[in-house]
Amino acid sequence: MNKNTVLIFENVTKRYKDKYALDDVTFAIDEGEFVFLVGPSGAGKSTVVKLAIQQEKPTSGKIIFNSKIRVDKLSGSKLAKYRSMIGIIFQDFKLIETKTVWENVAFVLEVCGKPTREIKKAVEYVLDLVGLLDKKDAFPKTLSGGEQQRAAIARAVVNEPLMLIADEPTGNLDRSNTWDIIQLLNKINNWGTTVIVATHDVEVVNSLNKRVIAFENGRVIRDYIGGYEL
Ligand code: ADP
Repeated sequence: MNKNTVLIFENVTKRYKDKYALDDVTFAIDEGEFVFLVGPSGAGKSTVVKLAIQQEKPTSGKIIFNSKIRVDKLSGSKLAKYRSMIGIIFQDFKLIETKTVWENVAFVLEVCGKPTREIKKAVEYVLDLVGLLDKKDAFPKTLSGGEQQRAAIARAVVNEPLMLIADEPTGNLDRSNTWDIIQLLNKINNWGTTVIVATHDVEVVNSLNKRVIAFENGRVIRDYIGGYEL
């Protein structure tokens, strides 16, 4: 049986005034893949992430989720529903400072209207998965960077998303925390979730033998399995 294609970029161009952030980019990512988006600063990695979550719209081209949803055409409640179907992780965590770890994660399910008992079970499960159950009542500011990113990952996966997309998830972390986060993302991928990680960290890419889509000046220059080769 053919695998489901989770994310397709088809001839995608993103232009800011006369600057091309992405220039005719095409790739397809299958369900269950772990893919690194790599390249030097300014290559277009973040733009791919922004377009994939429709924080921005492409100038031209198509973005297709799960073989059927035209991400670039979504608006209103359909866009909100799409974003709730994917997990998103940022370099700066983007946790809600006035909520505890537990509340940050539970919030995702509350806005979907899930029953309280189901929320409790799911939140407990993901906080245990990321090793933060003992910090469930802590506020983000009292946590280390690594712990904050683990809380953000718990929040991103609590809805059991088909796709997890991360923009420089280890950019603010030291080596030891970086390694923990990459192992965690790998574990989540091993359970079947498609994981897409934009990074310029060569060591991170080389630590796992995964598919690499390399960008330069807004174009895909290589698409292969293995370490980061410049
Ligand atoms: P990367 O994530 O690989 O560092 P980006 O996707 O952030 O690269 O940026 C790609 C190019 O697009 C860069 O040259 C950047 O300056 C430009 N760019 C990104 N966002 C904007 C914007 N909002 N306005 C103008 N130019 C932008």
